[in-house]
Amino acid sequence: MEKELEQLKRWISESSNIVFFGGAGVSTESGIPDFRSVDGLYNMQYDYPPETIISHSFYQRNPEEFYRFYKNKMLFPDAKPNAAHLALSRLERQGKLKAVITQNIDGLHQAAGSREVMELHGSVHRNYCTRCRQAYDLEAIMKPDGVPRCICGGIIKPDVVLYEEGLDQATLQKSVRYISQAEVLIVGGTSLTVYPAAGLVDYYRGTKLVLINRDVTAIDSRANLVISGKIGEILGQIVD
Ligand code: NAD
Repeated sequence: MEKELEQLKRWISESSNIVFFGGAGVSTESGIPDFRSVDGLYNMQYDYPPETIISHSFYQRNPEEFYRFYKNKMLFPDAKPNAAHLALSRLERQGKLKAVITQNIDGLHQAAGSREVMELHGSVHRNYCTRCRQAYDLEAIMKPDGVPRCICGGIIKPDVVLYEEGLDQATLQKSVRYISQAEVLIVGGTSLTVYPAAGLVDYYRGTKLVLINRDVTAIDSRANLVISGKIGEILGQIVD
C-alpha cells in the first residue's frame, strides 16, 4: 500500500493534466450512503427496488411514492464535503486537476470549492416546474409534504437524471473530451455499473489509470495502479 501511495503521489506531482471520475463512494465518508455497498441503498428493504422508484415511469405513475423515497433517502442537506472532495478542489487550485466528472447529485464537489465539475446525473440543488420551467432550490423540494408544486400548480421536478432518462449530451461530450486528453485519470468510489457513465473510462488513452475503490470493480485488471481503501483517507493523505 505504501508503495502504491508513493506512486500516485509521484504521478500527481509530475502532472498538470489530471482528471477525476467518481461516483457515490466519494460521498460515503460525508454520511451519504452509496447504492451498492452492503450498507448501501440497494440492501435496504422497500416496497420496490430503488432503481424502480427513481425511474421516469415510476415518477410519472406515482409521484407521491417517488417523492417519499427521494426526500427520505436521497436528500442530505446537512452533508459536508469530506477529505476526498477537499483534496480534489486543492488539486484544481494548484493547476494540476482539469476537471471532476461525477455521477453524484449531491453538489459536494462544488461545496468543497471545485469549479470545473461535470455532473453527469444532474443535481439535487436544481429543480424546476415541469409546467412553467420556474427554477427552485433544494428547500422548495424538502419543505412541503407530498409532491412539491409550483405557484402555477405544476409539479416541481429535480434536475436529476432518473433511470430511463437520457444524459445531457453537452456534459457527456465535455467529459469524453477531458478523459480522452487526460494524462492521469483517477477513478474512484464507483462500482462502474451504471451506463453510459461507466463507459467513459474507455475513452482514456494514457498509461496512468488509477483506481481508488473499497471493493473490486470491472476495471481493476486494466488499471495501471489500484489502491483499495477509503478514498477520503487516501487522497487526504497524499494531497498537500
Ligand atoms: P455505487 O453505489 O454503485 O458504487 C459505489 C462504489 O464505491 C462501490 O464500489 C464501493 O465499494 C465504493 N465505495 C464506497 N465507499 C467508498 C469509499 N469511502 N472509498 C472508496 N470507495 C468507496 O455508486 P456509483 O457507481 O456512483 O453508481 C450509482 C449511481 O448512484 C450513480 O448514478 C449516482 O448518480 C447515484 N448515487 C449518488 C449518490 C450521491 O450523489 N452521493 C449517492 C448514491 C447514489
